[in-house]
Amino acid sequence: MSADLIFKQLFDQSSGTFTYLLADRTSNEALLIDTVYEQHERDRALVRELNLGLLHCLETHCHADHVTGAWLMRHALGCQIAVSKHSGIANAERVLSEGDEIRFGRRVLRVLETPGHTDGCISLVLDDHTMVFTGDSLLIRGCGRTDFQQGSALRLYRSIKNKLFALPDDCIVYPAHDYSGRMSSSIGEEKHLNPRIGGQANEADFVGYLDNMQLPHPKKLAVAVPANLQAGRPADDRIPTPPEWAPVVTTYSGTLEISPQWVAAHVNDIHILDVRTEHETTEEATRIRNAQLIPIDELRARLSEVPQDKPVMTLCRSGKRSVLAWSILRDAGWERVANIQGGLLQWQAEGLDTTRAVG
Ligand code: FE
Repeated sequence: MSADLIFKQLFDQSSGTFTYLLADRTSNEALLIDTVYEQHERDRALVRELNLGLLHCLETHCHADHVTGAWLMRHALGCQIAVSKHSGIANAERVLSEGDEIRFGRRVLRVLETPGHTDGCISLVLDDHTMVFTGDSLLIRGCGRTDFQQGSALRLYRSIKNKLFALPDDCIVYPAHDYSGRMSSSIGEEKHLNPRIGGQANEADFVGYLDNMQLPHPKKLAVAVPANLQAGRPADDRIPTPPEWAPVVTTYSGTLEISPQWVAAHVNDIHILDVRTEHETTEEATRIRNAQLIPIDELRARLSEVPQDKPVMTLCRSGKRSVLAWSILRDAGWERVANIQGGLLQWQAEGLDTTRAVG
């Protein structure tokens, strides 16, 4: 992979869906392919923490097994939604056709129309042909089903044989799904080893296989397809809002964090829990006045001393041990608890007052 490319493969366990983040290191311009509604906070945190500017959320097709996070991401970050012109998906700013190019910094994804699983399936090929994002057209040792949503085994056969298998053998295949822990394949491998269309398989082999699979319908079909035809826009337009008790953000690591500035401005409404050692907190100048001091190694035994009537913000020197304190409190039932980002070091670097009385 070239040094100017940021590439992340993300996974949603409940639907077996891969989401891909691609970004150009020089410009920090980024794309997301096939987001999942329930993973919005994770994906958004990654974009934020890597300082990326998200240009597009791309859909390889209208999914039947999960709801896309595209609309939510556009609402949060102002990116554009891009879909195939044959997908029937509304609420998209960019409608893609064969050969269209999606630029991000100095890199480009090119659109290949690969219908068959649905009418509007596209695959996205990176400029140097080292990666292809195949959606459900070509999976690892498999392919998308063709028994609903305009499915056609014959069209899928032609899409894979004529377009995907025309890519270089060493082009890495990144599909939209896997259910067995496999992450990627290559065009060469699938050409030879795909049990439905690899090796000597012809049209009759492939169509005979696909047309007789008799799979149960995906559990979320009735919900997912209508929602995805709206690019994941909720029917009631209800957007998940941050909790009322504080403007916390979820990090990519999964921690609930709060900025030191907000904490400093709301000291009377919250409770600060400092989990550094006694040795570290003996000097007045190094602690926030009236912060409760319970060293991290005593916290589990002294939980009853931590109040629950106010939001608890955990603190340590650099904001690391306090993450553990946050998780200990959360697991013990505290609902309003967050970690103070960057700890006392960030608090001081931002020139915030450590001597002000708290609560
Ligand atoms: Fe699909």
